[in-house]
Amino acid sequence: MKSETLFKKSKDLLPGGVSSPVRAFQPYPFFAKEGIGSHLWDVDGKRYIDYCLAYGPLILGHAAPNIINPVHNQLKKGTAFGVPTENEIELAKIVVDKVPCAEMIRFVNSGTEATMSAIRLARGFTGKNKIVKFEGSYHGAHDYVLVKSGSGATCLPDSAGVPSNTTENTLSVPFNDEEALIELIEAQGLDIAAIILEPVMGNIGCIEPKPGYLKFLREITVENDILLIFDEVITGFRISEGGAQEYYGVIPDLVTLGKIIGGGFPMGAFAGSKEIMEKISPLGNVYQAGTFNGNPISITAGLNTLKQLDSNFYMDINKKGELLRNGIKDILQDLKLEFNLAGIGSMFQIYFTAEEVYDYQDAKKADVDKFMTYFHELLKENVFIPPSQFECCFLSKAHSSTDLTDTLTSMESALKMILE
Ligand SMILES: *Cc1c(COP(=O)(O)O)cnc(C)c1O
Repeated sequence: MKSETLFKKSKDLLPGGVSSPVRAFQPYPFFAKEGIGSHLWDVDGKRYIDYCLAYGPLILGHAAPNIINPVHNQLKKGTAFGVPTENEIELAKIVVDKVPCAEMIRFVNSGTEATMSAIRLARGFTGKNKIVKFEGSYHGAHDYVLVKSGSGATCLPDSAGVPSNTTENTLSVPFNDEEALIELIEAQGLDIAAIILEPVMGNIGCIEPKPGYLKFLREITVENDILLIFDEVITGFRISEGGAQEYYGVIPDLVTLGKIIGGGFPMGAFAGSKEIMEKISPLGNVYQAGTFNGNPISITAGLNTLKQLDSNFYMDINKKGELLRNGIKDILQDLKLEFNLAGIGSMFQIYFTAEEVYDYQDAKKADVDKFMTYFHELLKENVFIPPSQFECCFLSKAHSSTDLTDTLTSMESALKMILE
């Protein structure tokens, strides 16, 4: 197997043989050769139906022609300028039109940079120091937020190398628990600059907010002069045109974006009202900068992606999500497996537990061994999902009804193996 040979080489050169931790799985990850539409081919010529989709960005599928052609054209004209381009304005306008809380936006290079900068901005704007995050939420890999973090950090919730006086200012509470937050704010509310959350948690599986919970967060933050930051790096342009804030009708002060906004290229962004965003340098005194900010290639890819995401698009893709979830549910019920099938729109995940999953502690009670059996059996069946219970699966525009039918057949075989 070529992937196995490549992994042996890469282990010697890259820590764990990979460039980002969740990509490492046993016995070795397959190496990608190419992706087209809903399919991903490995270097051994095996084809997978892809529900990882690079962990979320590829909402139009791999190598979407409507992205690749304009990007080709832009490549020929230059790849970085260090001065503004007209496309930046066009993309900014689209985001401002689509995303309710956005009046002004700063483009950065990743979701990590987006949350790091948005938190700095919230601190600069309020003059306060502490932030609140939720257990199991993931906001990237920088120091402020590596406290009880989700995604790949679920097995390493509190990273080494982060000074304790940094994380002293990062408080965490369970998601969907009003009492815990009320208590925390009563104790330390005066110095809390912001609450940051994934409105649908997508880095600990997939956990929706309880009805009314986001509204509760909006009210308690207004009452206590705390900024509310929705980290919509996953949900932005995923669950609706305007993201979770539009879907749930709760408008935060700041939003962080990533993944889909770059159209398959590296990009992130944060946005909010003019009053807050004007505190960013060069206008204000909160510093933020980047050589590749607003990179013309990423901007072109993002622009041509977002142009395609209208309300019909979400009707279609969300219908596919529902179809797939219903199919999976039927299989799980027929097999009499204990499960909790999570998901919304074009996102889904299975927890192998009969219990409700409302937060990090609930998610961690699911049977991870069963999940890994399911993952490996699916892989044999040519279906690729993220190799972790604590990630979320995604659909793209490119997934056909044949793909969905084939996937359900594969899932049935894979899930049967759990009973063996
Ligand atoms: C992926 C992710 C990030 C980090 O984005 P990167 O581009 O990987 O730095 C931040 N927040 C959420 C919710 C994410 O899912």
